[in-house]
Amino acid sequence: MPTPLIVANWKMHKTVSEAVDLVQEMLPDLRVIPEIQVAVAPPFVALSAVGVVLREAGLFLAAQNMFWEQEGAYTGEISPVMLRDLGCRFVILGHSERRQYFGEGDGEVGRKVHSALQEGLVPILCVGETLGEREYGKTFEVIERQMRGGFEDIVLDSGEELVIAYEPVWAIGTGKTSSPEAAQEVHGFIRGLLGNVLGEKVSEKIRIIYGGSVKPDNVDALMAMKDINGALVGGASLDVDSFSRIVNFGRD
Ligand code: PEP
Repeated sequence: MPTPLIVANWKMHKTVSEAVDLVQEMLPDLRVIPEIQVAVAPPFVALSAVGVVLREAGLFLAAQNMFWEQEGAYTGEISPVMLRDLGCRFVILGHSERRQYFGEGDGEVGRKVHSALQEGLVPILCVGETLGEREYGKTFEVIERQMRGGFEDIVLDSGEELVIAYEPVWAIGTGKTSSPEAAQEVHGFIRGLLGNVLGEKVSEKIRIIYGGSVKPDNVDALMAMKDINGALVGGASLDVDSFSRIVNFGRD
């Protein structure tokens, strides 16, 4: 069983000082759980300051996006080299908000995944269907397309170098969650795809995490599913009590 991974995606919330205050408030609850990995993805501007606090506590820093080039004339972009330098371990790529509002396609996401791996970052590749796609029975087709686009020609030594986040778009920030069984069905499908491309041994080690309105009251049932190895948490990760309960999934 891979080590469970819980990732807080703070999106475009919190100034630098607010982000530091929030992570400091969360620390007492987070550092007492040695058997899971916890990562926090604050906005770019807060990576450095939040990273200092996380590092001292043995927790991981994650970025919410990056460009694929190492450096160059790309005004406004952030490179994987810069993220490594700040101490990032993970980078979220292809989040549905990037695909929806910033026009990111599978090709761009794939280039980013390649580049992240090359620079020693662990990409968290987000995939997920819209409500319309689900209703038209296209869920598996969409997931397969996004998976192939996201990591074509990738060779991995170990599954720990890659994380897939299954995030049904209709469940993100809406309060609607996939049932654990429906989520497991897609996670199982993703595991199968990974097995076909990378071999069963590697695929078993890859964390496939679920995202989409994960809350204290649904995390236990989701995490009890065989192929759900963690959670990508948006809204609930901005609340100390909620996030603390989520990382303590399965306990009373
Ligand atoms: C997300 O940001 O990836 C997410 C799943 O958000 P929320 O938990 O708010 O649905």
